[in-house]
Amino acid sequence: MTRIVHVNGQYLPEAEATVSIFDRGFLMADGVYEVTSVLGGKLIDFPGHAARLERSLAELDMTSPVTTDELLAIHRELVARNSITDGMVYLQITRGNPGDRDFAYPDPPVTPTIVLFTQSKPGLADNPAAKTGIKVVSIEDIRWGRRDIKTVQLLYPSIGKMMAKKAGADDAWMVEDGFVTEGTSNNAYIVKNGRIITRQLGTDILHGITRAAVLRFAAEAQMEIEERAFTIDEALAADEAFVTSASAFVMPVVQIDGAAVGDGRPGRVATRLREIYLDESRKAAL
Ligand code: PLP
Repeated sequence: MTRIVHVNGQYLPEAEATVSIFDRGFLMADGVYEVTSVLGGKLIDFPGHAARLERSLAELDMTSPVTTDELLAIHRELVARNSITDGMVYLQITRGNPGDRDFAYPDPPVTPTIVLFTQSKPGLADNPAAKTGIKVVSIEDIRWGRRDIKTVQLLYPSIGKMMAKKAGADDAWMVEDGFVTEGTSNNAYIVKNGRIITRQLGTDILHGITRAAVLRFAAEAQMEIEERAFTIDEALAADEAFVTSASAFVMPVVQIDGAAVGDGRPGRVATRLREIYLDESRKAAL
C-alpha cells in the first residue's frame, strides 16, 4: 500500500510529495516537529503535542499554517487513509521557502511548510523491550542551549544513538556538568526507595508530553516525585531506572555503562507506570 502523506494542504502518495531545496528546514534545520502515537487507531495525548507545537513555534517567532482543529483533522485523515492501527504521526513545520539561501529570516515571513506522515508499528504498545528493559551508555551532552524547543536539529541525538549502538547498547543518556540531562529521544528517571527522581524542567531538556502525563499519574497514585538532576553514579546506585517518550511510553532501563541497575531487571515502579500510562492514555485517546 502506498503511504499517503500531507504536504502544505495536499494529501499525496509519498513519492509525489516534495519540498523546495530552499526550504529553511532543509538548509538551516529551521523547523519544529512533533510525534504523536496512535494506539487502536486513536491519537495519544494529541492536545499535549499540539500545545507544545504552539510553544515551539512561538519561541522561534513562527506561526502555524493551520489551526489546532485542522491539525487534528489532518492527523485523523492520515491515520484513516493509511489504515494505521498502531504507530505514529510525524509532523514538521518549517519557516518555509524564501526562494534563496540567507541566514536572516525572510521579511516579510513566507508561508511555513507543513509536512505530516504516518509510520505503521503494529503492536507498538507490546514492544518486547518493555519486558527485558534497555541498556544505555552515558555520553557528553553537547547540544545547543534551547532543548526545550522541539527543533529538527537532531544530528547530535543521531550521533548519540550511533555511539550507543557501537557500544552494544540501545540508547544514550546525555550528561552535562556531571548531571544527566535526558536520553537522545526521551526523558530520564531513576527510582530510589520508591521515590521517582527526574530532572526539573528548564531550557536544558525537552518538556516531554509523556513525562507530564506520567508524573501526573504517579502523583495520583500517591507515588513520591522529586524533580531534580541526578548523576550517573546515583543512577547506578538506584533501585531502578526508566525513560519516557511518546513512542516508547515508559521503558525500563536495566543497564548503564555496562553495569546493572538494581537487580538488572525492569523495576516495579517502571512496570506499574507503563501499565497506568497505557491504560489512561488509551481511555483519553482521540
Ligand atoms: N527528550 C528528547 C530529547 C526527545 O527527543 C523526546 C521525544 O522525542 C523526549 C524527551 C520525550 O518527549 P515526548 O514524551 O513528548 O515524546
